[in-house]
Amino acid sequence: MKGYDTIKIENLQVFANHGVFPEETALGQKFVLSLKLYTDTRRAGKSDELAASIDYGDVCLQATKFMQEHTYRLIEAAAENLAEMLLTKYELLAGVTVELKKPWAPIGLPVDYAAVEITRFWHRAYMAVGSNMGDKKAYLDGAVKLFKESPLCRNLRCSSYMATEPYGVTDQDEFLNACFTVETLMSPEELLDFAHEAENAAGRVRTRHWGPRTLDVDIIFYDDEVISGDNLTVPHPDMQNRDFVLGPLSEIAPGKVHPVLGKTVKQLLAELSE
Ligand code: ATP
Ligand code: CA
Ligand code: CA
Repeated sequence: MKGYDTIKIENLQVFANHGVFPEETALGQKFVLSLKLYTDTRRAGKSDELAASIDYGDVCLQATKFMQEHTYRLIEAAAENLAEMLLTKYELLAGVTVELKKPWAPIGLPVDYAAVEITRFWHRAYMAVGSNMGDKKAYLDGAVKLFKESPLCRNLRCSSYMATEPYGVTDQDEFLNACFTVETLMSPEELLDFAHEAENAAGRVRTRHWGPRTLDVDIIFYDDEVISGDNLTVPHPDMQNRDFVLGPLSEIAPGKVHPVLGKTVKQLLAELSE
């Protein structure tokens, strides 16, 4: 997967209580768990220090505890939540593949096991925030704080706040704009929903398009993904024309390449300034 090193745990047996049937949750059964941890083992390899790597013994222990302390009906849900727990617990983890087998699945036919296998990664998002009503700085601070404190986000870096003239509809108060980059476990759609939650928390009322707002939160990039859905376009289709996006963004990610235009943020800013 994408040039990562892997640490593997194969067939860890855990007796736990997941299942759709009452007997399964009451009596429990055997589950068999395999994990592939995507990371960079270079530092551990060179230093020979456990602290520089992910302790697979601890991973086995934490996974076992997690499987036993929770009850899910579906192995899909057990695997999903286990993946999330591991990715948020181990800083050096970039991604994980979880295979969860259920050898005693109540199928009533001769089968070795039923299983799910999922792969989940941290993704890097680039976000733009803006406000031109009320306490603008407090609205931006609030948005950044929400993302920073989400358990599904880590390593947030924010630009400085930049005062800018209104764009599009110009007969309104000036804006305060910023960009931040954050690693997230949210999908692009979940991230958009979360952005809307942040706007709602700031009491945003949608009046006219491009009109005054307490808080606007846009997704600029999501990894190198190109998305054109009904509700979501990534990269943001107008970002290359906006100095209030490219300015702050070039502070924190000047070398980030636009996956469609093939130019860095720094280049796009220079071209716009011309
Ligand atoms: P602009 O998108 O030109 O900056 P705006 O931010 O003022 O305009 P909004 O009214 O905040 O527009 O958003 C309208 C809709 O745009 C959102 O509800 C969302 O579904 C959609 N949208 C599409 N692509 C994106 C994106 N990359 N980031 C945020 N919203 C997006
Ligand atoms: Ca916007
Ligand atoms: Ca928006």
